[in-house]
Amino acid sequence: MKTFVSIVGAGPAGLAAAVELKANGIKEVVVFEKEGDICSTIRKFYPPQKRVDKVFKGLNLNAQGICDFETETKEAFLERMRKYIKDYNIEIKFNTRVDGVEKINDLYKLKHENSTIAESFIVIVATGVFDNPKKPSYPIPEEVKNKVFFRIPKELPKNEKILVVGGGNSAVETACALSGSCDVFLSYRRKKFFRINEENLKELEKRKNKIRFLLGSDIERLEPAAQQVKVIFKDGSEEIFSKIFYCLGGSTPKDFLKKIGIEFINGKPKIDEFGESNLERIFLIGDIATDRGSIMYAFNTAHKAVKRIVEKYILKEDKIDTDSSINSLS
Ligand SMILES: Cc1cc2nc3c(=O)[nH]c(=O)nc-3n(C[C@H](O)[C@H](O)[C@H](O)COP(=O)(O)OP(=O)(O)OC[C@H]3O[C@@H](n4cnc5c(N)ncnc54)[C@H](O)[C@@H]3O)c2cc1C
Repeated sequence: MKTFVSIVGAGPAGLAAAVELKANGIKEVVVFEKEGDICSTIRKFYPPQKRVDKVFKGLNLNAQGICDFETETKEAFLERMRKYIKDYNIEIKFNTRVDGVEKINDLYKLKHENSTIAESFIVIVATGVFDNPKKPSYPIPEEVKNKVFFRIPKELPKNEKILVVGGGNSAVETACALSGSCDVFLSYRRKKFFRINEENLKELEKRKNKIRFLLGSDIERLEPAAQQVKVIFKDGSEEIFSKIFYCLGGSTPKDFLKKIGIEFINGKPKIDEFGESNLERIFLIGDIATDRGSIMYAFNTAHKAVKRIVEKYILKEDKIDTDSSINSLS
């Protein structure tokens, strides 16, 4: 398949980029998504009916481009994204994980299981970071691996003693979601929560008798304990849980990006203010382009990257003969 722009990842960033490209009259746009449905981070990591907050991690942003939302439920947000897909007639190839990108002459070849699935003039990488949830520094013993989770299951556990580890919004939301049906403990290394939304602080306040807060607690190791998990804290205390949920955030897929040839500075991908990397015409947007992402940030970085693409590679005919580039693709 030859296409002017390929987008890797059908999350908020990738879909917003497709919307913006279509709105700018760029027809040859394809999104590749590794899962069988859109927005896998939102579908898999958010508890049912979770509030999708417009202000997240202290980022209070307004929409700069077409895609926008106000605080609403996870389900309403996903409906919103499906409507964008329909309205802008966005083509998505599902179950297609892009595992490499190679430059051949003027085009980038996108690889899936060693085959070329697309040849594109421009590539927008919007894979997010939740494919690689952050793991704790201590090992997780083999015997307890089936009791340790990095995302919330479709069906919430009931009547169990659960430890949630983390101090951000997602840890708080997970603890709140589980506190209705389980005995929940929330362990965080710091003495105070970090960049928690007002709404989440209110939810915590409402549940302060339902959640046991282990603030300033640091886990040393885990051990198996008769079908459960024993948690040994650095202060020497111990507690047994039936399950542990780690909510420590995501991590940049460095191997994937380095294999493509993206350079890193101080552990972060090297990109300009529009998201363009050291490889000309490869853009990084959304969570992968920052260490403090949110949905509105994803939407806005998509808008900025597409504006740049239009200005640099489409309108500036002195920079590139776009017609012949597009024609050479067909
Ligand atoms: C529990 C939790 C709660 C959150 N709550 C909020 C909130 O209330 N408000 C808010 O603004 N933000 C919230 N966030 C953050 C928000 O979800 C992210 O900032 C946002 O989803 C980033 O969008 P993205 O498109 O960059 O990445 P993602 O949403 O992660 O989407 C990336 C997509 O790319 C796909 N993909 C990955 N690798 C490949 C590949 N190699 N090939 C093809 N496809 C690939 C993935 O399957 C996924 O569909 C929350 C995050 C979590 C984990």
